[in-house]
Amino acid sequence: MRRRLFTLTAFLSLLLFAATAVLWVRSYYYLDAKRVGDFFAISYDGGLSLNHFVPDGVTDIYFRYWKWTPLFALLPVVWVLIWWLKRRRPHEGICWTCHYDLTGNTSGVCPECGTAIKSKVVPIKIG
Ligand SMILES: [Zn+2]
Repeated sequence: MRRRLFTLTAFLSLLLFAATAVLWVRSYYYLDAKRVGDFFAISYDGGLSLNHFVPDGVTDIYFRYWKWTPLFALLPVVWVLIWWLKRRRPHEGICWTCHYDLTGNTSGVCPECGTAIKSKVVPIKIG
């Protein structure tokens, strides 16, 4: 469940990264502010403006999304690193240090390099 939540969050973060990167690049080609609906405006310098009309005037909240673009890329990068490390990790029955095949090994130590075997399976002594 936690892994799926992390994957979903990383995916949403990737979408945010893509959206802010597109808006950021786009802001170099459109020099004026572009209004989106009644409340949002995308300005030329990589900002998103939220205008809220109140009786005294207009409250303007300005959000510079380009500063957050690298942060949005962080979770997807961590997700890819975890995926890559898990893919590289030797499977059960292989020495983690020298990749020696430990099938049938009951000593708990790799005969090739002497590394203690990190295994959930406890060696069974027969006899
Ligand atoms: Zn070894």
